[in-house]
Amino acid sequence: MVLLFFTVFSVNEVPSQGKQHANWPDCTPAPSRVPPLPPPPKKIPPKKSPRPLSTIPHIQYLSNQQMQAITHLINGQDCASQQLMHVVEPATGKPYASMPLGGISEVEAAIAAANAAFPNWSNLTAEQRAAPLLKMTDILRLRHEELAQAESRDTGKPLWLTRKVDIPRAARNLEFFATAIQHQQSEAHPAQQGLLNLTLRKPLGVVACISPWNLPLYLFTWKIAPALAAGNTVVAKPSEITPFTAFLLGLIAREAGLPPGVLNIVHGTGPQVGGPLVAHPQVSAISFTGGTATGKAIASVAAPMFKKLSLEMGGKNPNIIFEDANFEQALDGAVRSSFTNQGEICLCGSRILIQENLYNTFRDAFVERVKKIKVGAPEDPDSFMGALVSEQHLQKVLNYKQLALEEGGIMLCGDEPLPLPQANSAGFFMRPIVFEGLGPGCRINQEEVFGPLVTLQPFQDEAQAIALANDSSYGLAAQIWTGNLGRAHRISEQLNTGIVWVNCWMQRDLRTPFGGMKHSGVGREGGWEALRFFTEPKNVCINYSF
Ligand code: NAD
Repeated sequence: MVLLFFTVFSVNEVPSQGKQHANWPDCTPAPSRVPPLPPPPKKIPPKKSPRPLSTIPHIQYLSNQQMQAITHLINGQDCASQQLMHVVEPATGKPYASMPLGGISEVEAAIAAANAAFPNWSNLTAEQRAAPLLKMTDILRLRHEELAQAESRDTGKPLWLTRKVDIPRAARNLEFFATAIQHQQSEAHPAQQGLLNLTLRKPLGVVACISPWNLPLYLFTWKIAPALAAGNTVVAKPSEITPFTAFLLGLIAREAGLPPGVLNIVHGTGPQVGGPLVAHPQVSAISFTGGTATGKAIASVAAPMFKKLSLEMGGKNPNIIFEDANFEQALDGAVRSSFTNQGEICLCGSRILIQENLYNTFRDAFVERVKKIKVGAPEDPDSFMGALVSEQHLQKVLNYKQLALEEGGIMLCGDEPLPLPQANSAGFFMRPIVFEGLGPGCRINQEEVFGPLVTLQPFQDEAQAIALANDSSYGLAAQIWTGNLGRAHRISEQLNTGIVWVNCWMQRDLRTPFGGMKHSGVGREGGWEALRFFTEPKNVCINYSF
């Protein structure tokens, strides 16, 4: 479906389609339009690069009209594919880069490279593996501004957000797991009668990391960092909708000295690249983040092959506001958790449940605040929301708005004029929408919209709040706003979600387990959970009694 919004075309210099996949992938040096990264600086400055951005080759694409050419990273080399598709800039609606459409040949070449690299990489000490990952962290920080601009351009989200969240978190992911692995301990279970159990943890081999479009580099690094730190080699597939910063990360990995084949990045669509990757017998584990339907399709292929699976999927998260909450904090939290990143975060609260005595006051204040949200050009520092990621996704959200109206919902805001700069007139923008008057069984309160559309529902007491919150096939995250600590504990225990935030939202400590219940996920990421997932425990029982 994504393909509908990308133009698929062949490059002139590649063989005709009749010879499909013959001799592919073509691991030749990158096209001249993609200049190699300059050698890393000898001394990495503490924070900001003193170099003007225009002297960094990859930033030049932001200031010229030339189409940027993304390449695969296979065995340390830039690789092309026979077919390409356009990558569209959501804020302008115009294509700005070309992405190779990988397929079975590229996947097989990447897996072969990862297999070949595995013995050496897995035999390195934790410190040796950490070194290039920490170097990547340094380069990410050094190149913070250009990466932030690239991410904003690729996704349509505000530049202040990619500067503040996406890129710093991507660097932190690499740093966190590169250092965590150096502190990993083996378990020992001394038993009676001269027996000792040692639990060893070994890397799995070649693993697949498949990521979505909403937090591209943030989630891409969240997967590859623990996989690599634990000693696996990786074939990674970023979203075809937002591939650019994963491409840049491949260049950064090479610049940091990550050995060839340790990290391979294959671009393309889910069916063409993700499908063969998941089904390949030499891929021993799959770490996936994306939609629940895709997770189900992946599980149907991988489970009968007994592959290890980590599935982080969709959500329909409740945001529960009690009358004893700090009003301003709850209001601010509700606005942010509803519409940050255009509502395109799996952790956004899309069902706002308000205690009935507070309902009218909170609703009016909430709608007043939402009406004031500035939707605009991503580079405008006043834009709280930028563009949605694609025309297809914008249409999906607008279809849900129509559905909510048909279900009898009252639209409290979202139809106000949306003045945009001329350059953004063809971009995929919309105003945030708030509905009330829809019961818990309505489709709009059951299905994931994954955009700037939320509903308000009243509740009477704790019991009803819990019942409404748990009335979902999803179980990713929940928020509780209350001044009553006992209530916060009671409700947290009874919510069927993997994450509960009390009087806060999106406070992420990388050491904590991250993931969802029910249709939101299988397994947990984060901290030791991620390192456990990417290793196989082996118990060795030693009899030392004689
Ligand atoms: P998606 O499922 O369409 O795609 C995710 C990735 O899977 C992409 O790289 C895609 O190419 C790939 N893919 C698609 N079909 C595949 C197949 N058959 N085999 C293997 N790979 C395949 O999801 P999306 O639209 O990119 O992202 C939005 C979804 O992601 C939302 O549902 C959101 O809730 C979810 N999400 C969840 C979390 C979480 O941590 N739980 C975080 C972010 C996003």
